[in-house]
Amino acid sequence: MQQAVARGATHRRSFVQEVRRGPPVEVVTGDASERYDLVVLATGLNGYPLALYSFDYRPPPVGSMFQTELYLGHDEVQRRLGSSVHVFLPPDDVATYGILIPKGPFVTVSLLNARSQMRSLRQFLGLDEVAAVLGKRVRQVCGCLPRISVGLARNFVDDGLVAIGDTAATRLYKNGIGSALATAERAAWTAIYHGPGRYEFATSYLPLCDAIEHDNRIGRLLFLQVPLLKRAGMLPMAHCRLAADGRGRPGASELHTRLLWGMFTGAYSYQDLFHMTLNAGLLIRFMRALGSSVLHCAASRTRLSPHARRPAIGGDGVGRSDVL
Ligand SMILES: Cc1cc2nc3c(=O)[nH]c(=O)nc-3n(C[C@H](O)[C@H](O)[C@H](O)COP(=O)(O)OP(=O)(O)OC[C@H]3O[C@@H](n4cnc5c(N)ncnc54)[C@H](O)[C@@H]3O)c2cc1C
Repeated sequence: MQQAVARGATHRRSFVQEVRRGPPVEVVTGDASERYDLVVLATGLNGYPLALYSFDYRPPPVGSMFQTELYLGHDEVQRRLGSSVHVFLPPDDVATYGILIPKGPFVTVSLLNARSQMRSLRQFLGLDEVAAVLGKRVRQVCGCLPRISVGLARNFVDDGLVAIGDTAATRLYKNGIGSALATAERAAWTAIYHGPGRYEFATSYLPLCDAIEHDNRIGRLLFLQVPLLKRAGMLPMAHCRLAADGRGRPGASELHTRLLWGMFTGAYSYQDLFHMTLNAGLLIRFMRALGSSVLHCAASRTRLSPHARRPAIGGDGVGRSDVL
């Protein structure tokens, strides 16, 4: 924002109440009504809905994320989590999955599809595997229940109107800031070099959003393994074996670590991740790890508690937690 202003943009803080079809498009704020050649809808998904008159824009479908910050202190975070993201697969009645991300003296807890907010958080923090990482002395400092986009908006390009970021297309469960930047950049490029009309956006901007959505479809396919991982204990065990093997060793195990890391961060596209899953070396190593886990499960079935059959995936082998 500061750089845009330094290059001549005017920044005015106003709450936009209405946008009316043009040309030129009319923008109504609390104290003024102004007309512009192009309005860029960049209002995200967590503000008050904006009234768009005579436009057919439909926002993307949304899911819910329960987000909270825990304070542990710098040393304790380093000792307990290091710089690794930890991914857990809690029971379905708690959440689809939960992630712990170390951020300085804090740990961010993200629960996807938390069933009952605070109760889900308490249940999640109470799980043996989570408590083993965080300890019992955690202090919750804030929390929120943001909406997240889980699909593509509709009719988001029009004459004099283009939506970007969360209001248009974003990568599934990750790297929303990167998607906001990419869509903003392409929309700006289109408006400047081709024009601010529906046809220009449809031919030069929509292909980027369609590509994001195409990649998300592959992501949805990859996330289908989550219910499997929860129900078949030997699968996460096999992942853990491979991840543990990967520390310091090249080849298939390293690829596996990249795969786990990429599922929850913006580092790789879902298409790249899908190709990684088809790597022959990785498949062979995974089948071996799965075989060992099946034997292990058979041998120790009577000794395992229900919690021990649902281990965390990722852990120390996942990598650094820079962007989610
Ligand atoms: C808790 C949480 C953690 C996240 N962590 C990460 C992360 O680590 N990395 C990552 O890449 N992504 C993360 N995301 C996703 C990321 O924040 C979003 O994908 C990204 O911010 C979308 O950018 P945007 O510009 O489309 O919308 P937003 O960032 O939501 O910005 C919309 C802006 O529009 C303003 N606005 C809304 N309505 C009006 C109006 N009527 N008039 C004027 N202004 C209005 C809002 O005040 C806001 O400033 C996270 C999201 C959440 C909720």
